[in-house]
Amino acid sequence: MKLTSRARFSTVCLHAGQEPDPATGAIITPIYQTSTYVQEALGRHKGYEYARTQNPTRMALEGNLAAIEGGKAAFAFASGMAAIGAIATLLQAGDHVVVSDNTYGGTFRLFDKVLRRYQLSFTYVDTSKLDDVERAFTSTTRMLFVETPTNPVMRLTDLRAAADLAHSHGVRLVVDNTFASPAIQRPIEFGADIVTHSTTKYLNGHSDSVGGVVIAERDDDIEWLKFVQNAEGAILSPFDSWLVLRGTKTLPLRMQQHSANGLALARFLCAHAKVRHVYYPGLPSHPQHELAKRQMRGFGGMLAFELGSLEAARRVLNGVKLHALAESLGGVETLISHPATMTHASVPAERRKEIGITDGLVRISAGIEDIDDLKEDLTQALDAV
Ligand code: PLP
Repeated sequence: MKLTSRARFSTVCLHAGQEPDPATGAIITPIYQTSTYVQEALGRHKGYEYARTQNPTRMALEGNLAAIEGGKAAFAFASGMAAIGAIATLLQAGDHVVVSDNTYGGTFRLFDKVLRRYQLSFTYVDTSKLDDVERAFTSTTRMLFVETPTNPVMRLTDLRAAADLAHSHGVRLVVDNTFASPAIQRPIEFGADIVTHSTTKYLNGHSDSVGGVVIAERDDDIEWLKFVQNAEGAILSPFDSWLVLRGTKTLPLRMQQHSANGLALARFLCAHAKVRHVYYPGLPSHPQHELAKRQMRGFGGMLAFELGSLEAARRVLNGVKLHALAESLGGVETLISHPATMTHASVPAERRKEIGITDGLVRISAGIEDIDDLKEDLTQALDAV
């Protein structure tokens, strides 16, 4: 099970970071559910001292995720938000960050309600417009934090151009790649310095674990993130690490089906008389479809559509039977949600309006069910509008 440097993506997903268990030969990395490790003699041990600092299951997952994203090292955290919190520790009081304006609501909440108390400042811009990004840079800007596609209106940022711009100003490019997954888009290939995920979503893929990861490329960032993961201690548990490691084995297969269903649902909704607009980068009508074709391999399972009013959205959300009305995304089951009152409820109404999160907007995370069952379910729910 030795990987060559030429190993292709699905082979890397299956095997990277994992060796048969040295004690038994078990092909699957065991759940090392232990808090400490017995040392042979004073100062002599096998490289494991205490489980916050080192755990073989978590380290196997970290090796796997670093390889999948094409980064040098990865650090797994207890949630996606804990991962973003760790990235923020690369900053110091007085530093400024430019952020995609319709970033995940929880990220906005962390930046706006917590980190501003520590003399960090944030400017929110439409990062699909790099002129606006450049205008937002100041002499204290240290980080450009981008989500692409954005949640939930699927706006894209040109990753190569964003990396070039950031680097020309001595700024790090951080990409939250949760929505796409590395099967669809690998930001480090375009020059990103750091990639983060909520592993809760596509990487685990089965809606049964909460976690996060930071993948880094620069040696100084790697050294600091390793230190902070241990110093702050918000580590991913061995069991959750094992679940995500199982999830990444099928990531390429799952993403093929998520993408196929996402595209089919987007086309179906586009043709439906009750739907006013569909946001999906795989549609030729998406304003950045050409960019999507350049930087994504497939277009993923996330889409949103506009029904024109809260009442219409309510009827669809309450009328679906197979689609589960729930927050989150990226699991094998199809989920449907109402961004304005669910994922983005913490974003002030004024800002929601600016970034296109209307009361009539509905988001779908397309699962891997049979597409005809999903279409039938939406048809009957839309009939009630
Ligand atoms: N980033 C994105 C794009 C998300 O959608 C989410 C959660 O929905 C997060 C980060 C935070 O992840 P977690 O819920 O695992 O803390």
